[in-house]
Amino acid sequence: MRRVFLGLGSNLGDRAGHLRAAVRALCRGPHLGVAAVSPVYETEPVEVEGEQPAYLNCVAELRCGLGPLELLRYCQGVEAALGRERKGEKAPRTLDIDILLFGEELLEHPELTIPHPGVERAFNLRCLADLDPGLYIPGRGGVSGLLAEADLEGVRASGEVVEPC
Ligand code: AMP
Repeated sequence: MRRVFLGLGSNLGDRAGHLRAAVRALCRGPHLGVAAVSPVYETEPVEVEGEQPAYLNCVAELRCGLGPLELLRYCQGVEAALGRERKGEKAPRTLDIDILLFGEELLEHPELTIPHPGVERAFNLRCLADLDPGLYIPGRGGVSGLLAEADLEGVRASGEVVEPC
């Protein structure tokens, strides 16, 4: 079983409900278990087109017996099932799932880059450090050191809670 961290985000509709539904779907996945979920943060959209609503973001820590591409397919199925409409690469979305870390792996594949290129976004570092301040991000460094250098403006505690299962 690999230790995997998934970034979950939503900026449309019942945002916290979408994050909870995503965790429930991950709990039901084959060879998947959700060990922990970080606090939920409200974040100003970064790297997006035009005006967009704020995101709710959290990170789920999984125990995963799938391969990285199998996990990507499962996550894409969860995104589709929760009604994500792909109106553009950086358009608002009901649910976005990013594979941030897959054990200690470094992977460059046409469909999958691990660690996720956005792993050093401030909200991801905040959530990862909440789950494990001693975490090492392959190729980048320790999460606490990276977080100390990050700009956390635009990342606020939301007060929402997503339970693991
Ligand atoms: P997005 O619009 O952020 O959902 O990006 C989706 C695309 O990113 C998919 O076509 C994936 O193949 C690709 N991708 C590359 N690396 C990753 C990753 N680590 N996690 C999730 N999607 C990834």
